[in-house]
Amino acid sequence: MDYIGNIFRPPSEAESLILQITVGCSHNKCTFCGNYRGEKFAIKSMDTIKRDIDEAARYQHLFDKVFLADGDALILPTAMLLEILGYIRQKCSNTGRVGVYANTKSILRKTPEELVQLRDAGIGIVYHGVESGSDEVLRRVKKGATAEQTIEAAARVTGAGVLLSQMVLLGIGGVELSDEHATATGKILSAMSPDYAAALTVMILPETELGRDAAAGRFVLPDKFGIIRELKEIIENFQAQRNCFFTSNHASNYLPIRARLPDQRNEVLGLINRVLKQGDESDLRPETLRAL
Ligand code: SF4
Repeated sequence: MDYIGNIFRPPSEAESLILQITVGCSHNKCTFCGNYRGEKFAIKSMDTIKRDIDEAARYQHLFDKVFLADGDALILPTAMLLEILGYIRQKCSNTGRVGVYANTKSILRKTPEELVQLRDAGIGIVYHGVESGSDEVLRRVKKGATAEQTIEAAARVTGAGVLLSQMVLLGIGGVELSDEHATATGKILSAMSPDYAAALTVMILPETELGRDAAAGRFVLPDKFGIIRELKEIIENFQAQRNCFFTSNHASNYLPIRARLPDQRNEVLGLINRVLKQGDESDLRPETLRAL
């Protein structure tokens, strides 16, 4: 397989074939993100992509899902995505679902009709980086989208009948915007009603703009229990309109949670309140075990 640079995939795609169709991220400006720093965004040639699919087809007994990398692969022109999806169907007939990362911009570049076409061709899940529901936080981290645009993008995905999995980022508002970030993030999740929502905790990477801001004292991350308080506020403000599988079990988090919302809302809030009340760090994932 032709893999170039850093390859990332959601934890739930661990068993999937990772098919790299772009290199890097077309946006590549988020201040906290070091995933594709120094990588020039490029779309791989159809010849290379088809060669990879041909190679993977020889091992198709080993996977039944495909994940399209890299950072916002949905940005590819629809015609090209449809050709790739058609070739996957033709060569890897066991493939049940194709997943892809997307940001708000790459979703909004697709019309509702195009998203339906992509669903019919195999796209079954979109992993959407939301990060925050606060416009001020989104502006500061250079996400390239407002809360309103994020809600519109989510509606297009769910409206096309594609599963929506969203990521939000604990701590990204810093101490200064911690409350605003958590409340607005819970509210935006309510407005979007994703099938899956994952809270990750921001890890400050020295080579990023956020890392430089932190080193200069312009950004101060909430402490461990401040991060847990954000998790609590997000869940308190998240009035899930339909079943959502909510997790904070990514390795970056201090308190791993897996819950069906709204059914397990009280149970989860009870657990978080107990942890906050006790203030015992041994209830939290040790710093040495945290990772991206
Ligand atoms: S859109 Fe995603 S992959 Fe691209 S820079 Fe932002 S966080 Fe990183």
